Amino acid sequence: FRPWEVKRVRTTCPHCAVGCQYDLLVKENRIVGVDAAPGSPTNEGLLCVKGRFGSYQFVHSGDRLRHPLIKENGAFRRASWDEALDLVASRMKGIQEQYGRDSVGGFSCSRATNEDNYAFQKLMRAGLGTNNVDNCARVCHSASVHGLATTLGSGAMTNPMADITEDVDVILLVGSNPTEAHPVMGARIRRAVRRGTKLIVVDPRKIDLTEGCALHLQIKPGTNVAFANGMLNVILSEGLEDRDFIQNRTEGFEALREIVAEYTPERVGEICHIDPDGLRAAARMYAAARKAPIIYCLGVTEHSTGTEGVMALSNLAMAVGKLGRSGCGVNPLRGQNNVQGACDMGALPYQYPGYQKVTDPAVREKFEKAWGLPLSPNDGLTSTEMLALSARGERIHGLFIFGEDPMVSDPDTAHVRRALENLDFLVVDELFMTETAQLADVVLPGVSYAEKEGTFTNTERRQMRVRKAVSLEGEMRQDYDIFAEVETRLGHPCRYESAAAIYDEIASLTPSFGGLSHARLDAGEDLAWPCPAKDHPGTPILHVGKFARGLGWFYPARYRPSAELPDGDYPLMMVTGRMLYHYNTRAMTGRAEGICQVVNESYIEISSRDAAALGVAHGDRVKVSSRRGELETTARVGDKVGDGEVFMTFHFPDGNVNKVTNAVTDDIAHIPEYKVCAVRVSKL
Ligand code: SF4
Repeated sequence: FRPWEVKRVRTTCPHCAVGCQYDLLVKENRIVGVDAAPGSPTNEGLLCVKGRFGSYQFVHSGDRLRHPLIKENGAFRRASWDEALDLVASRMKGIQEQYGRDSVGGFSCSRATNEDNYAFQKLMRAGLGTNNVDNCARVCHSASVHGLATTLGSGAMTNPMADITEDVDVILLVGSNPTEAHPVMGARIRRAVRRGTKLIVVDPRKIDLTEGCALHLQIKPGTNVAFANGMLNVILSEGLEDRDFIQNRTEGFEALREIVAEYTPERVGEICHIDPDGLRAAARMYAAARKAPIIYCLGVTEHSTGTEGVMALSNLAMAVGKLGRSGCGVNPLRGQNNVQGACDMGALPYQYPGYQKVTDPAVREKFEKAWGLPLSPNDGLTSTEMLALSARGERIHGLFIFGEDPMVSDPDTAHVRRALENLDFLVVDELFMTETAQLADVVLPGVSYAEKEGTFTNTERRQMRVRKAVSLEGEMRQDYDIFAEVETRLGHPCRYESAAAIYDEIASLTPSFGGLSHARLDAGEDLAWPCPAKDHPGTPILHVGKFARGLGWFYPARYRPSAELPDGDYPLMMVTGRMLYHYNTRAMTGRAEGICQVVNESYIEISSRDAAALGVAHGDRVKVSSRRGELETTARVGDKVGDGEVFMTFHFPDGNVNKVTNAVTDDIAHIPEYKVCAVRVSKL
């Protein structure tokens, strides 16, 4: 194309939560390319391979769903909107009449806009009268939401990306592989290291950033709490703590001090399989630094002790006074582009938008007044609880899944299939006929980010505009219109004028969003919540001067081993993660030809020693089995994983690691333990 022939539409990348800004290049209602936005604070003109090549071909893919579908006698047939929406409303209502109000639930979409997420949770709460609504944060960062809210008062990243990668002395990177999962953030960290920042990598695998780091603590998977307590043990025994900060800004320190005394470097060395002197060096480096952020990701959260792992890290930061100021903090890198926003918008079973509790009578009264009907006073169920109940044939009989594909993304695929097949009724709103959509009774065609107006909230709580670049084809409808139509058919009339009007409704009900509007964002303002008033500049750094909960709380965290450890039958420990080229279930990147030419099949990383013992060579096909299932994939032999450990991604339906992962969850946030399960590998 010739540059003057294309229209440029500034929007936000739909993949990871860095939230890179770019222009979609549009010619004759088709996206023909992507150009990074120069000078954007999130990406400074950078884009990764997913943003540049994997974020537009899927929009025009020939297999996009374009009409409602109803399953009859095991096969889908095209249906009119009225027919499909009437059926959704009547079946959901019928199930509630038979089994009770809370026999239905909904999974909202962490890739959809704030406005769509708000409309979806409102459909569940006002239309169906249940708080059984959740989003995929449940399976990635719910441990952060619960953990940081408990100890600090807010479950979000404390500092902006630029603030924790520029002019900082030390970065403590725990269970995070940003060059693959958040590539532009990875580039920022790499640049910081080049400029002299000392990087401590705490990760069971060798990752790209291990090269050039000051220290790599290759801890055994599932030992994060022991690691953090060990760091604290060194800090307290050497008097490196910030006594003023502990005294003036926190509570619960003495109880934690007693526990931490048990975690000597030698004991932690044994638990974590690391050198005690390495732990001592890391603790001294982190404590002594003027500016030292903790950055972490799913290697901390996706464990049966995930929430405690998060709280152990906030203990560490509080003990050295590295919170509430520039260049520090506890910083979860959120995974999906709008997983922060899906949580902010109340697609959670315990909270309305803005983390306002559904059990708080004053809050509930506010929403009842605004929405004009009584609301459920009870906490709802998490997505993992809903699936577990349905798999056992208990309590949950109807589900509405918006833009999620748990058949690929959730642990223990056989368990997910059982749960979805047990339902009396499943409706799925999706872009494509995914593995989950194939099991549905009604499939509604969803709308991609390039066809809608709205906002995403990136990992820094920053509000990012999403703009419509191409118009919807045929009879397709905006997702929030679909939800409003179902809500209306359920007896609660609902209609939205526009995405901007929904954002205004959100602002009117959500104190932390009170000053936000599309108009302010379109005028070029750079705003991170909390932003309570129209003249408020937003809050890039949380907990300055005072924690959101008042005093920060030291949680008394004790190490417990993972739920399933290797044994004679399943002797290897499986660790899961992401790769650079593909994004989650591959619905988007799997339709980008160039990306698929680079990599389009699964693999398993195995150490040279383990491979030799099994008679497996690099490139061999192998079978991987666990107590839950088995898969076939290709071996990559090398030194990225330690002996006794193997690694796979979950991007590929064939060879999807979730056939073998464990659906056991943490007791607090109900997040599954994707990161550790026991497997056997054999040559095919
Ligand atoms: Fe940026 Fe993430 Fe998109 Fe890559 S995938 S361009 S890092 S937002």
